Amino acid sequence: MIRKVLIANRGEIAVRVIRACRELGIKTVAIYSEADRESMHVKLADQAVCIGPPEASKSYLDIPRIMSAVEVSGADAVHPGYGFLAENPRFAEIVQASGKVFIGPNAETLALIGDKIRAKEVAKKLNIPLVPGSDGPVDFKSALEVVKQIGYPVVIKAAGGGGGRGIRIVRDERELREKLPLAMQEAKIAFGDERVYIEKYLINPKHIEVQILADTHGNVMALGERECSIQRRHQKLIEEAPSPSIDDKQRKMLEEMCVEFCKHIGYVGAGTVEFLMDQDGNFYFMEVNGRIQVEHPVTEMITGTDIVKWQIKVAMGEKLSLSKVERRGYAVEFRINAEDPNTFMPSPGKITNLYLPGGPGVRVDTHVYCGYTIPPYYDSLIAKLIVWGSDRKSAIERAKRALEEFVIEGQGLKTNIEFHKRVISTREFREGKHHIRLVEEMLI
Ligand code: ADP
Repeated sequence: MIRKVLIANRGEIAVRVIRACRELGIKTVAIYSEADRESMHVKLADQAVCIGPPEASKSYLDIPRIMSAVEVSGADAVHPGYGFLAENPRFAEIVQASGKVFIGPNAETLALIGDKIRAKEVAKKLNIPLVPGSDGPVDFKSALEVVKQIGYPVVIKAAGGGGGRGIRIVRDERELREKLPLAMQEAKIAFGDERVYIEKYLINPKHIEVQILADTHGNVMALGERECSIQRRHQKLIEEAPSPSIDDKQRKMLEEMCVEFCKHIGYVGAGTVEFLMDQDGNFYFMEVNGRIQVEHPVTEMITGTDIVKWQIKVAMGEKLSLSKVERRGYAVEFRINAEDPNTFMPSPGKITNLYLPGGPGVRVDTHVYCGYTIPPYYDSLIAKLIVWGSDRKSAIERAKRALEEFVIEGQGLKTNIEFHKRVISTREFREGKHHIRLVEEMLI
């Protein structure tokens, strides 16, 4: 049994986890840095422990400080949210070694899927199609060999990369010579692992991912796909479910591949398998994420499941009892970031006027409120607007209405709400024909 969960995170996802715990009758402990004293997750939790100064390295990434908070508060489980330590195998191991439940996959699984090269090896063994590329890590010489086979352009990716960081596009040999050592150096600093690999750079693909839930009894189920093709610099901005571009047959095939992959590695918890889909409708496995994703609500909205509650229930050893997942309608999520809509530079500040949209089919997940000052130390996500509609067209009309209602104002504070309105008014998005470079093309 889990009676008290410590949430090793901040912001909207900490609030989301507190909500799930409260509905399950589980007590919650928030941790916070000195910069987050006034955050909503601190106010909503049953208990709160300050763990250090604003810098994430001395607070939300500091394992000893977090473990002290676990001990002091008497929590018997830790939910890591996303980002920070969520996919850190060492953290999972330490939590477990101290007799507490880590709400997520075990350390071995996190180590396997966190190494994208190893994850691709598993996929290959299971005949899951991969983006053509190197079989393992490359140096300049072996990279040249690979390029001889697959041709330019290619992308260099870090084996330990994540969050869209560490991806470089290379169009010719000169660029390869220049960028490969830089990519390795950067990977070593950012991820502590200098191994990089190479993939064919696909032209204008779509990003399609499948939500997975798995219990400790060997049951794995897929909750359908999300399309996350609206991205800027490989970072997602708008996500939707289901994808407007795949049919039931393709969905079934994807789901079966993902379930097989997860069964093969003994996956437990919520997870996401990411693919790219090219313009001919071919799918290519990219990676597996072993955490709750930012965009999980779109799947919740169309399936009526609570993925965060299920994370907690399977961590308690409960069997997945969702017999069949029924999908209903369409959902779209907008990441509302505190950033300049033109330069995309972070633009934190104090919120002096706030009105959250509501009405039928509208959900807002956020930790901000009127009077709250957005600290400059963390990512710029301040809210997620999720809308539901019986079909894609009505979901988009509702999104337009909700984005127009949304008011966030403050001194020096800017958001990307106007930018979202522009994206959803493009013909490509409205027709569902957009790909991962639409935003880039809009900005030219
Ligand atoms: P991360 O784990 O850092 O998020 P991913 O491997 O998931 O990195 O890729 C993030 C995004 O980068 C994808 O959604 C896609 O937009 C782009 N991308 C990745 N690999 C390729 C590729 N081979 N060709 C074209 N775009 C790619």
